[in-house]
Amino acid sequence: MKLQIQMEIHGQKKNKKQEKMRRNPMTRKTKKVGTTGSFGPRYGSQLKKRYLKIENSTNAKHKCPNCASSKVKRQSVGIWMCKKCGLSFAGGAWIPTTPTGKTALRTAASLQEQELEKSKK
Ligand SMILES: [Zn+2]
Repeated sequence: MKLQIQMEIHGQKKNKKQEKMRRNPMTRKTKKVGTTGSFGPRYGSQLKKRYLKIENSTNAKHKCPNCASSKVKRQSVGIWMCKKCGLSFAGGAWIPTTPTGKTALRTAASLQEQELEKSKK
């Protein structure tokens, strides 16, 4: 029993150490390639760079438009869900809000305003 507890404590310590090592840029295994290291020498460096940029932005923390917590995760292509409040919404394929999407929202809002003004007259 005592041994088991000691082992558990030891395991936690080891995990913390590993976490620290992972975050420290001096001890990181991959300097540039990141998760694309799993591809090995295949597919070309430029393509892998592009892939990495997109993958990192997809997996980054995104703010929820409803509760403003950073718990938004990608469900599938264009579908995003907040793990905290449960809101699911449509967005970009790889990022929750794209520049094009913002422009479209702005256009829709201005059109709605115009319609309202027309109906008043
Ligand atoms: Zn939320």
